[in-house]
Amino acid sequence: MEDTKFYTCAYCYKEFEPKRRRVQKYCSDTCRSKAYHSRKTKVQSPDSKSAELTVPNDIPTPKRENMSMAGVGNAAAGTLAANAIKSLLTKESNKPATKGDLTQLLEKLNNRYHLVTNMQPNFRGEYPYYDLVDGVLVYLRVNS
Ligand SMILES: [Zn+2]
Repeated sequence: MEDTKFYTCAYCYKEFEPKRRRVQKYCSDTCRSKAYHSRKTKVQSPDSKSAELTVPNDIPTPKRENMSMAGVGNAAAGTLAANAIKSLLTKESNKPATKGDLTQLLEKLNNRYHLVTNMQPNFRGEYPYYDLVDGVLVYLRVNS
């Protein structure tokens, strides 16, 4: 989707053409830093859906990013582990000495799948695993 859509500045509510789609909230660096500073000094209500309609120009729209970070739970833990692997891989390509660390970490993580210990096996007797690579829950048969 490459439509040239104009965004509304989250600070001054002027329309602008985003240079970076999706991530740009403000028309200019000035608005971005003004919004940042006023966010730091003002206590904001977490639920102000009508803010865009009622607030005057100099009050910034409350940020909602914090809310989307809530409830990530296990996935976040998995991402952390995945990031640890990535950083080790990066390190490893520069410094061969850390190869042992990497092997150790991969063993600890059972490579890709983690057994989810607070869930029951399914009707086929397969166990739930968290797939680090795809970030999904999968059921795997465990050979005994
Ligand atoms: Zn602006």
